Amino acid sequence: MRIGILGQGLAGTALAWQAHWAGHSVHIFDPGSQDGASWVAAGLINPIVLKRKRLVQDAHHHMATMDRFYARVTSELKTSLFYPGPVYEVLPDGTSLRAWEDLALDTAFAPFIGPCHPLPHADLKGEALGEVLQSRRLRVPHYLAASRSFFAREHHVHSELVTTLTLGDGRVQLQGQALDVCLLAEGYPGKWTESFFGPLPFAPTRGEGLRIAWDGEPITHALHKNIFLLPDGDGRYQAGSTYAWDQLDAGASEAAREEILTKLQGWFTQAVRVENQWVGVRPTMQDRQPRWGWHPAHPHLGYLNGLGSRGALTAPALSQRLLEALETASGS
Ligand SMILES: Cc1cc2nc3c(=O)[nH]c(=O)nc-3n(C[C@H](O)[C@H](O)[C@H](O)COP(=O)(O)OP(=O)(O)OC[C@H]3O[C@@H](n4cnc5c(N)ncnc54)[C@H](O)[C@@H]3O)c2cc1C
Repeated sequence: MRIGILGQGLAGTALAWQAHWAGHSVHIFDPGSQDGASWVAAGLINPIVLKRKRLVQDAHHHMATMDRFYARVTSELKTSLFYPGPVYEVLPDGTSLRAWEDLALDTAFAPFIGPCHPLPHADLKGEALGEVLQSRRLRVPHYLAASRSFFAREHHVHSELVTTLTLGDGRVQLQGQALDVCLLAEGYPGKWTESFFGPLPFAPTRGEGLRIAWDGEPITHALHKNIFLLPDGDGRYQAGSTYAWDQLDAGASEAAREEILTKLQGWFTQAVRVENQWVGVRPTMQDRQPRWGWHPAHPHLGYLNGLGSRGALTAPALSQRLLEALETASGS
């Protein structure tokens, strides 16, 4: 089948790989302006929400599917998609260290709760680092760009904004191209998705982060506490991110910069230089659950949206479910 995919962020890219592996002809439509949420995502793949002592919903399934998915993409692209090493939680005191060790006794958490390590840097404040087993950090821009090149070479990439989409006779017309199936993966605000599927319960969250550097001893670990501190490998680091539910279209703010630096100074005492500040909008739903499905009246129109703050983790399994439903419906 000829499958059109509207949007090439984390959702659309995962759908494109699933369609490719299922033997379809893939047509990606995305202007390639690199301004969607995916281009600012820190790329953390971490099934633990430590603050609320809970796991991401379906964490075990998402982690296993994500692992297989990125391994297969890595072998297709013949390039490394991850930064080295796992993610570590900074445990501030003895109480949090014991709570971490207790989590290891919980059968749901146990596969993800690794050993505690001494703090690896003189400027880090706290008791220890808790290793999150199976966690990692996706090099999101590299994954998206390398995937786009692959699909431009092996399939079709249309660098344009979709302004016409019509349905009829069991076919889809996207920008005048006749296709068998159309998958909407447009993130927030989801204009086409809402026009066909009705309003989605978006509660988009704005997030800001900083690119920072310092002159002292480097850090090589990906660290998380109330914010993340992530080495980019070039002597610079990402620090963030904030959560806000208003002024979605506003640029980078002084308040967010202050918030990140204040939180960071709570557990990292080195004086840092801010080189850059970035902002994005997470396509989050009110209940924090992603949305996906096929149109009841137009069975060749599907969508995937609402990946929230976990797109790198959840896009592989959700895209697989969407494509499997198509294969089942078409009897192949
Ligand atoms: C500050 C911040 C930090 C984050 N950190 C992480 C993290 O550490 N780990 C993690 O997993 N997630 C993280 N996220 C969340 C992650 O970014 C999202 O889950 C993910 O990007 C959503 O992907 P998406 O493909 O649904 O949407 P998007 O990335 O927005 O992609 C949608 C694409 O569709 C295209 N498009 C839209 N309309 C059209 C049209 N009409 N025609 C053609 N193309 C169209 C857009 O150009 C865009 O490329 C973070 C997000 C933010 C904002």
